Amino acid sequence: MKPSHIGLKFLCLLLSVYMIMTTAYCVNADAKPSAILNEGQYMIGTGIYDITGPAAGLVMEGYGKSDQIASGIRQRLRSRAFIVQDPSGKSVVFASADIGLMFGCIKEGVIKKLAENGYGDKYTAENVMLSAIHTHASLSGCSYYALYKISAMGFNRQNYNAIVNGIYMSIVNAHNNLEPGYIEMSRGELDGISVNRSKAAYNNNPEEERARYSSDVDKTMTLLNFRAADGTLLGVLNWFALHSTSMNHHNTLVCGDNKGYASYLFEKDMGTNYQSSKTFVAAFAQSNAGDVSPNINYETLGNENGYYGLDDLKNTEYEGKNQYLKAKELSNNATVRLTGPVDYIHTNVDMQNVIISEKYTSGSGHRTYKAALGYSFSAGAMEDGPSELPGFYEGMTQKDYPYSLNKNNSRYQIIQRIASISPYFGEIMGTKYPELWEQHYPKPVLLSPTKGEPGLFVPDVVELQIIRIGQLAIIGQPGEITTMAGRRLRETIKETLDQDGNSNSVVIAGLSNEYTQYVTTPEEYDMQHYEGASTLYGKWTLDAYKQEFDKLARALICGTYVDPGPGTRDLSGKQVTFVPDVVFDSVPLGKKFGDVVTNAAYSYNRGETVSVTFWGGHPKNDLKTQSSYLEVQKKAGNTWTTVYYDWDWCTTFRWTRISMLLGTSQVTITWDIPEDAQPGTYRIKYNGADKSIWTRKIHQHTGCSREFTVR
Ligand code: ZN
Repeated sequence: MKPSHIGLKFLCLLLSVYMIMTTAYCVNADAKPSAILNEGQYMIGTGIYDITGPAAGLVMEGYGKSDQIASGIRQRLRSRAFIVQDPSGKSVVFASADIGLMFGCIKEGVIKKLAENGYGDKYTAENVMLSAIHTHASLSGCSYYALYKISAMGFNRQNYNAIVNGIYMSIVNAHNNLEPGYIEMSRGELDGISVNRSKAAYNNNPEEERARYSSDVDKTMTLLNFRAADGTLLGVLNWFALHSTSMNHHNTLVCGDNKGYASYLFEKDMGTNYQSSKTFVAAFAQSNAGDVSPNINYETLGNENGYYGLDDLKNTEYEGKNQYLKAKELSNNATVRLTGPVDYIHTNVDMQNVIISEKYTSGSGHRTYKAALGYSFSAGAMEDGPSELPGFYEGMTQKDYPYSLNKNNSRYQIIQRIASISPYFGEIMGTKYPELWEQHYPKPVLLSPTKGEPGLFVPDVVELQIIRIGQLAIIGQPGEITTMAGRRLRETIKETLDQDGNSNSVVIAGLSNEYTQYVTTPEEYDMQHYEGASTLYGKWTLDAYKQEFDKLARALICGTYVDPGPGTRDLSGKQVTFVPDVVFDSVPLGKKFGDVVTNAAYSYNRGETVSVTFWGGHPKNDLKTQSSYLEVQKKAGNTWTTVYYDWDWCTTFRWTRISMLLGTSQVTITWDIPEDAQPGTYRIKYNGADKSIWTRKIHQHTGCSREFTVR
């Protein structure tokens, strides 16, 4: 039975009395007067900005493979921001970024920049939610926590700054674009592009619970239309649970994977101008995708190469196109309007020390513990990117690998060897902490990543946040939550919110605000697949999140004060990098930067690929933010017009070091001529930058291919 309204009101009254007694204040945004809004209108704004970091020489994010080093661009990475402000002046910001993982330090950087530039009274950690689309074709080195930058060879300031600045600029653009408008919501099923990659774990959930759902993955896409008062579509934002792992770990070109491609298709369709501060924005945000793979072929092609399907580019296009088509359909058919106030609530929780009430868990005495990663964490997710580390596989439990066996265990020996490289690693070896083996049972503890003081390997204090736009609540989940775990969390929050007498919609914005690996159900945890082995704070992690998010939901409907919680750690001063800076660039004797090495042919048919190679400089010298390393230009009379850039899907930009000693490098630009390309005369232009060996200054250079015809 649901708690009665009277019970709820009594609870609210008690909390109010408590507030007065403790002279606590009510969390309330400054209420600034806004434009005159008609019934059912909000002030709404959308914004987009480039967040592409150094596209060569840096390890890519997601697969954690130090040999997956970026060598160029298939598509620029963007941040897409949405602001909603209600008539009282209260506002919320949601930004979806084309990055692999969202980290607390990125949010910290964005909030700091907002404060420094006069937005401090408007946009804060409390009402800004930042979320990652989880593309595994982005760039790494952006966390203050060691586990997420080991393969990146340390912290990468240039990439961090590009992401922080780009997200900030997308919010500023959205703010400057605020205008009266309204928001429509639409929900629908998208079938056939996702599979559960940990079926054995999923199937360990109770049968009656599984019977309530038609699938072992969530197939619902929730979409919002942002419309100006006159009905003009300003942007769309949707959530759909799907790993952005269509591109496999052999890919070295930066892109937004399937979600980035879906955004590109929708934005191209709407004529988005990426260099404009006011333009159409389509965000494909992440949800409860912890165990949801886009590699639908792995079931039928479960062989050595089949896990990722046969062609990762084709897979990405298939998965992206289907998300775009569904979003387009939902956008065209959206009829439900969001109405009611905008609200938000936020707190920090020490996730290692949550005592869980029996209301949220099945039994007594449950709590969270110091973080631990299981043996199967080292196996990787078999279907999306197995680690190929010998001896590790999914499903390793203490039943087969008890603590007592570790002294003679071969895996333990391997890890010992890795550990000996760094004194820090010795500190976090799981075998040093027998109590963690008991607390995290049945997880055999490979690493205890918060034992590595003073530099923690993973976060302990994390941000929890819910934002609300009328009848829609968005849960900012700081990690990768599985299908069933997400359903349980959503249900808990919906039950509480619905006590206001409405039927609320609840979505999970996965990978928001901070990254804490995975969250499974306790039953999935027992199976110790990759996701369970990566559930940091123990078997009851999900139940702890249910309890702590529910506290926020209750405070939201009561309008009561919530303790801001402990501060997150300031690790900004402890960041080191091991990636060398560009020393210098040069060209062979008699050559200039931008000189053509391999030219285009004289003519091409549509469907063919143009490829041109130039002498170039390292992309690190200039990120070409909001600009492009390449231009495909078409001749009209005596003038050249650019028709494609480095963010277009039909172009690639690749950088290759020729001689480390001499500092020489080349760039290769390709253009797959689309079937609908206009016949005519074209050329390929390269825009680069080089660093002088003598002055250490950066110079801009350009190069052009010969003119060629497209028939
Ligand atoms: Zn993942």
